[in-house]
Amino acid sequence: MPVPVPRSLSPSKVGAFTTCPLAFRFSAIDRMPEPATRHTVLGTLVHRALEGLFWHHPAGQRSRAAACNELARSWATVADDPETTALRLDSSEVDELLTEATGLLDRYFTLEQPDAVRDIGTEIVLEADVGDVRLRGIVDRLDIEPDGSLTVVDYKTGRVPAPASEQARLGGVQIYALLCQQVLGRRPSRVRLLYLRGPVSIEAVPTDQGLSGVQRRTAALWTAISRACQTEDFRPRPSPLCGWCHFRPMCPAHGGGPPAAHHTTAT
Ligand code: SF4
Repeated sequence: MPVPVPRSLSPSKVGAFTTCPLAFRFSAIDRMPEPATRHTVLGTLVHRALEGLFWHHPAGQRSRAAACNELARSWATVADDPETTALRLDSSEVDELLTEATGLLDRYFTLEQPDAVRDIGTEIVLEADVGDVRLRGIVDRLDIEPDGSLTVVDYKTGRVPAPASEQARLGGVQIYALLCQQVLGRRPSRVRLLYLRGPVSIEAVPTDQGLSGVQRRTAALWTAISRACQTEDFRPRPSPLCGWCHFRPMCPAHGGGPPAAHHTTAT
């Protein structure tokens, strides 16, 4: 029995189908909850602090102290979130989390001077049809450069990718460049990934050819997703990422049993 094709997808979910079709189904189609982890809470904390740094402080007032204040404000909103309380962090673990977040913010200041940034907005929702799929993504920050060109900025709190997977990461962010072009009618001149843990800044220049390639790959993936929905064939694709997969207990590739309605075949 065919399963419903998702009406819209985030750019990261499109790529997730390639990583593992079964995990994609559990997450994007069945919408099974994925509990927060310490890492996701850390990411939310730091993203909100940086969003607040730009949202609440004009250029000239975006100091380290302001960032620390924003981190405290961010923690005040995140601490009582059910996903955070479910982690049952004790006071020393909370201290460790906040110390790590402060360290990431410190490193952020080695990557750029926020007082010199002319941001157009933060956490901007962009939604557009790319071929037959409606993509909906959130851009961490969009800047305007002195020459009037646009830069898409994405903060990363995870590890810096190995050079071999760097291009794949940039490929994902290029989808945001494509969304900018579709929604705002302008192609950004740069995409910057700020890996705070490095700290390392990885940059790419979107080109017409590159964005056409992203468009083609997205359309091909959408065709594959639609076909999988028609045939209800979402195979598990085991990889080292299985160690972090929330759906592992119900994954047939690891001896788990998916819900009866999911007819899948292990490879
Ligand atoms: S455990 Fe691995 S193979 Fe199974 S669903 Fe998760 S990512 Fe896919």
